[in-house]
Amino acid sequence: MLTIACRDVGQPCDCVLSGETEEELLKSAAEHAVNDHGYKEEEIMTPEMQQNIKSHIKRV
Ligand SMILES: [Zn+2]
Repeated sequence: MLTIACRDVGQPCDCVLSGETEEELLKSAAEHAVNDHGYKEEEIMTPEMQQNIKSHIKRV
């Protein structure tokens, strides 16, 4: 399983998101960022943000 901690991406949040695939994880991370952190979807989809998120993915 893949996980990502919000805190690692620089958010003041203790959430850890998980997914079976990178695609699934990125999708739930995007939803969480929009719903819980007030981001706009287009802000999450920038190459910089996607790269930042991907660089903090952990395999558990
Ligand atoms: Zn969060």
